[in-house]
Amino acid sequence: MIPFNKPCLTGNELTYIADAVHAGNPSGNGKYTRLCHQFFEEKYRFPKCLLTTSCTDALEMAALLLDIQPGDEVILPAFTFVSTANAFALRGADLVFADCEGAFPNIDPAQLSELVTGRTKAIVVVHYAGVACDMDAIMAFAEERGIWVIEDAAQAVDSYYLDRPLGSIGHLATFSFHESKNITCGEGGMLVINEEKFLKRAEILWEKGTDRAAFFRGEVDKYGWVDLGSSFLLSDILAAYLWAQVEQLPAIQKNRLSAWNYYHQQFLSLAEEGHIKQPDIPSYTTHNAHIFFILCKSIEERSALIQHLSEKGIKALFHYLPLHLSPYFHKKYQGPPLPHCVRFADTLLRLPLFHGITQEEQTLVIKHIKEFYT
Ligand SMILES: *Cc1c(COP(=O)(O)O)cnc(C)c1O
Repeated sequence: MIPFNKPCLTGNELTYIADAVHAGNPSGNGKYTRLCHQFFEEKYRFPKCLLTTSCTDALEMAALLLDIQPGDEVILPAFTFVSTANAFALRGADLVFADCEGAFPNIDPAQLSELVTGRTKAIVVVHYAGVACDMDAIMAFAEERGIWVIEDAAQAVDSYYLDRPLGSIGHLATFSFHESKNITCGEGGMLVINEEKFLKRAEILWEKGTDRAAFFRGEVDKYGWVDLGSSFLLSDILAAYLWAQVEQLPAIQKNRLSAWNYYHQQFLSLAEEGHIKQPDIPSYTTHNAHIFFILCKSIEERSALIQHLSEKGIKALFHYLPLHLSPYFHKKYQGPPLPHCVRFADTLLRLPLFHGITQEEQTLVIKHIKEFYT
């Protein structure tokens, strides 16, 4: 059996977890949380990071920070995970779904001018597979109109747009450390605050609406309820798990990229013969090998290929069910059809890719896909 994913393990996780437990303050904002914050702030020049219990929670914090209210509109891709939408729907926002670009399943900035209205408060972009959206175009559009931009960088740790790390470009950004992502602590996430105006309030929302973080730094002599908030912070036990992975990030990325490149190289002939398409990565982005996908010709062909691989013990997965057609949303949806989104949803197939996948495993996946087409 070749699974689709194996959560990454690098060796020091249990040692650091034990240390966090023995240190006697396993709640949030402890030693390992600070080590992780410091790493991301230094390596990627993020002005401020806050570890959260998930990327979903980081997105909910973002919606609170932006003061999203009923009647506000938020533009986001329909080709994304539900959390990108839920965080804003929970605050009463009207969701305005955008289509993908034709060449890659990221939001198409050319559509923004048709979707924007006087009520547009924010644009959420998703860097699918760790591949950057066209950030210069998106930021220029938003800043001209005073609209906030949130990067859902759940999949995009250690990816770049030109020479800028993803997560450092929007006013806010969110990352995921769910077990399916490149680095993980089981369930975890992070909010990045790039806009100075949000720095102080973010920390308050994070700690249940209190100024507890400032109290622990000795800046106030007691702490209390000063704003809305929730318990968004990650236990230091999980931060210890994450720290072990963060320390190994370069090795993890190297391993994943070499696996990604091996697939890419081995599928060139199948793509040249017109059987499949490979990901078309824009020249302005590096990527982090979060996902390797191929594009089939139709949903029927893809289902047959999934079945063929499954019979050989190989797990390959499609992605996503478009949000505007979802059981929860399709009756509310009044926008235009989103043809590229639907095409990617029907034809995209993700292949097994994880830290430590062997070349033998990949060769088997490649062999059985070639066999299917010839
Ligand atoms: C994984 C993912 C999320 C959710 O992350 P969690 O940490 O599981 O909450 C949100 N958005 C995108 C694009 C994702 O890939």
